[in-house]
Amino acid sequence: MRVAAINRSIYNRTAFQGLFQNTPNISDKFRFGLEALDNNSILTVTSNAESSDMMLELYSDKIDIPILKKYTLKVTPSDLKDQNELKANFAIFKKNDGYYVLNIGNTFDLLIVRNGEFNPQKDMFKPGEITKLKDGCIIETGESIYSYKGEKDKFIFKNPCYNPERAEKYLEVKSSVETPTQIHDFNKRTIAAMTESRPKITTKQEFRFSDIGGLDDVIEKLKQYVVRPINYPQVYSNIRLNKGILLYGPPRCGKTLLGKALANECNAKYIECNANELKTGEVGGSETRIRKLFKQAIANAPSITFIDELDSIAKKRDGSSNARFDDAMVNQLLGCMSDLEKIRVPAFIVAATNMKSLIDKALLATGRFGLHLEIPMPNFEGIKQIFKIHSKNQPIEESVPIPEIIKKMFDNKFSGSDVAEAVTDSYFNALERMGMNKKMDAKTFCYNDLKEIIINKDDLLKAVERIAKQKI
Ligand code: ATP
Repeated sequence: MRVAAINRSIYNRTAFQGLFQNTPNISDKFRFGLEALDNNSILTVTSNAESSDMMLELYSDKIDIPILKKYTLKVTPSDLKDQNELKANFAIFKKNDGYYVLNIGNTFDLLIVRNGEFNPQKDMFKPGEITKLKDGCIIETGESIYSYKGEKDKFIFKNPCYNPERAEKYLEVKSSVETPTQIHDFNKRTIAAMTESRPKITTKQEFRFSDIGGLDDVIEKLKQYVVRPINYPQVYSNIRLNKGILLYGPPRCGKTLLGKALANECNAKYIECNANELKTGEVGGSETRIRKLFKQAIANAPSITFIDELDSIAKKRDGSSNARFDDAMVNQLLGCMSDLEKIRVPAFIVAATNMKSLIDKALLATGRFGLHLEIPMPNFEGIKQIFKIHSKNQPIEESVPIPEIIKKMFDNKFSGSDVAEAVTDSYFNALERMGMNKKMDAKTFCYNDLKEIIINKDDLLKAVERIAKQKI
């Protein structure tokens, strides 16, 4: 994804100046809407949202991009200082080769898009018609066409720089949601785009930081770098945020868990993908997927994008012809991370790896994956915390010497996942020891038996032993 350098001076601030009393005025909001457009979003400018939504639906399949997000700028009489009503009903969308406008007015509402002098033959468009926008061109709709008084009622199109943040704040925003059954169907292409293989995007995660044991220092860092900046953006408005975080360490010690809990703690969308899914066999295909992933991260902001096994697409570049494809992916990742750094959108990329040493150095620099957090094997205290979390709803006999069990786990180098597994296994052992399995098979088990089930020391020791043996 390329984001052009921001040059605010190119925006025309004179349209509507003096005409409108609200701040930011409608001209500013129009510009914010344009800034937010990517190849999967649309801006509708309307003085009658209901009817323009209907018209948009009618013509939406003429728009040959999937629309995943719709920004609506409502033009109301309160936007005007005098009571000359401005009627506006058009939609702007972006494709790779530029910006287009679609007339979504009612049957007779004309749209004029002109460069300089009005030429009725070439500048006038009926409802449903689309035309390409040129830098500096003037867009006029509805009554302004008939009551055109020089420089007043007009929208001026200026090629914008990508920055969706302000549109999110000042315009109405509707997004397609994640699961195919809930797709907000802006056009047929929306459905096609949403149902094709894609990273999983979810809103609510089941985990919180309190479900993670032994990683208090890491959690504090994540609060500092991500949670507080997302929850209190005003406090961080003047500093450059670190958008890339690398979690590294041995398998099954809580990296994925941290990503999920992090999204929950800051009420952000959680986008999950395994780096291997970003690889394709086609030339340029993996780069496209990487760009798409970053776009999704931005479009869904505030968001936490979790990329598991980063090392599989981020290996050190060696310039050899064998590594050509891998190098291209690293270059793409570098480009996307640099772009993300430049825009003020709360989209954070959390990548995980078991092999930090394989990752290209440039990606590990500040401004890219600039915060490295080690997720080590849990120590004694960590295992104690993880055990407490996973056994909190388990019927463990009070007399069980927990420190002895924890010590056994620690001596056998248990990961967080091993601890969780030992708790589950101890429950299975209790079921077997108490004859519950036989009862269930004979269908004589009754729910009163549930109250009887209790995990004792032997059940836990047996579970620890089985897992320890498997680890050798
Ligand atoms: P991998 O590197 O193999 O992808 P990971 O580090 O991402 O592994 P997780 O998937 O987060 O590991 O952990 C697997 C499971 O182990 C979790 O769902 C959880 O049940 C348990 N677990 C691991 N670490 C912890 C921990 N620190 N606190 C609580 N539970 C943990």
